[in-house]
Amino acid sequence: MKSATSFNQPQITIEGMSLNLGIAHGHAYMYDPEYAEDFHLSVEQKVKIFLQAVHRAVELCENNIENDRSKNKELIFVQKALLQDLSWQQRVINKIDDKVIITHALDKVLEDIDIAFGGDSFWHARFQEVRGITQLVRQCLEGKDVYFDNTKPIVLCAKTISPVEMMQFDHANLVAMIVEDNSFLSHGMIIARSKGIPVVGGVIELKKFINNQDELLVDGDLGRIYVRPLSTVIANYDTSKKPQFSKPSDSTNNGAVISRDGTPVHLFINANLSEDLECLERSTIKGVGLYRTEIPFMMSERWPDVETQTRLYLQVMNKAKEKSVVFRALDVGGDKTFQSLHKSFKNPQKGWRNSRFTMQRPSLIRLQLRAMIRARASCDYPDLPLHIMFPMISEAQEMRFVRTLIQKELDREKNLGHKIPQTIRIGAMIEVPSVVFQLNQFLDLVDFISIGSNDLFQFFFAIDRADAVMSKRYDLLSKAFMQMLKTIIDSAKAKNVSVSLCGEMASRPIEAMALLGIGLRHFSINPNSVEAIENMVQSLDIWSVQDCMTDCLSDNPFAYKAAHLSIRERVMELAQIQQTQLS
Ligand code: PEP
Ligand code: MG
Repeated sequence: MKSATSFNQPQITIEGMSLNLGIAHGHAYMYDPEYAEDFHLSVEQKVKIFLQAVHRAVELCENNIENDRSKNKELIFVQKALLQDLSWQQRVINKIDDKVIITHALDKVLEDIDIAFGGDSFWHARFQEVRGITQLVRQCLEGKDVYFDNTKPIVLCAKTISPVEMMQFDHANLVAMIVEDNSFLSHGMIIARSKGIPVVGGVIELKKFINNQDELLVDGDLGRIYVRPLSTVIANYDTSKKPQFSKPSDSTNNGAVISRDGTPVHLFINANLSEDLECLERSTIKGVGLYRTEIPFMMSERWPDVETQTRLYLQVMNKAKEKSVVFRALDVGGDKTFQSLHKSFKNPQKGWRNSRFTMQRPSLIRLQLRAMIRARASCDYPDLPLHIMFPMISEAQEMRFVRTLIQKELDREKNLGHKIPQTIRIGAMIEVPSVVFQLNQFLDLVDFISIGSNDLFQFFFAIDRADAVMSKRYDLLSKAFMQMLKTIIDSAKAKNVSVSLCGEMASRPIEAMALLGIGLRHFSINPNSVEAIENMVQSLDIWSVQDCMTDCLSDNPFAYKAAHLSIRERVMELAQIQQTQLS
């Protein structure tokens, strides 16, 4: 067992897995939210635990002031006073009830302050102080005996991280993440990518190697961590360097990226947070291929009303200007739990997710459709089509149902004398294998499809997409999965229905190369991967990867080198031959 402080110990290097690119330097914050499972406690027990944690936090402040362990003495004095403020304590206690756990109560108080005084600079500073004590109390709830200085850059170290937790951490101070989990497809990771935070995963039992407050250098490019790095090691890294978009090369045509053999490839981005939309400035990006509408509202206590939703969608449309935006209808459940929607029940990956959930509560989806329709009709580009896409549709009948909801909303708007968009294009995500067996009928009901390979993969192989152990068990480039993707792409093309892929695999050069090889030409990718995918396309002869994939998917044992090589190995071999830049 290591001691609590490890300042005098030597540097160690840990090799993990790159889950997001970038380099960062900061101090470890060991996040261990097991205490969050306190739903079963009575209100009185929760209040008692909260007050004990506050008491402990005050003691920590006093210790630190006394031992002069921190240069931020003044800040600690302020924190101590705030912790002892009975009105703040009472506000938190008032929020705790049967269903609300202590940390949610702490966050709600913080949110109330933000809402009440958000625009005021004096209160903004107070807000940061309350945020500081909130973190300190959280830490004491976890049983941490180390003072956490939240003025320093933070490297969050956790077993795993949910999307809600990811949204909770202060963006400005959070510079990197290290997780035991290695799931590339979890929504926590997807949001980390949107925030541009380097992540190293697959670090088993990280508590054995890293202590709270340890200095860390995180190399998200190599999947490497230096614990207590030597100054010579730090000097060799440029931690200020952020992934930057270089100027696109001239081989673009009408916004498409052109491969070495002259094939146009169309790139769109996946957008989760407003910062993702910056990437639309780039001429090679044709629009937003997947706007995850649920992410901006994950932290809200109440599900947003039509006006709030309309405002957000309008901002997005105006920011995108004449570029298209595909709005995905509400997609909840799995690892995306909402305080405002399901407080008291679990909703696992195969439960009441997405369209199933919203179909049971059509009023929710109707409000969202209303907001989308109003936003498109009143934005700066009202003549552009409104694109709406439905997730996790499992049967043709479900598609018919959501179409009737759109029609009802359009009729309602017309009856009210409101303007409606000139064109509405309705699409579906292909995420559930059952749809692949009804494609003929299904494709007649949609204007476009987008393959949600993150979910499709988990349902195809019956593995939880966020499960760390399972994430390495099956390969996205397995023959069966690629064959299914090819069936979808070929069927859509035969029916003249536009097809793209918006799962994370489209953002990885080797996987994207294989997808080009089976005929995909539209990709919706993570903004951080744009440059890597552009470089790959521009340096590739697509016909060669097409030949390779035909060979790989062939049933003729003599045609396929598969006796010795997997599809991944063959595509990688080809990438090296073509000198495609990989990451
Ligand atoms: C997918 O499933 O591939 C997808 C893009 O949707 P999400 O990751 O939000 O479930
Ligand atoms: Mg999905």
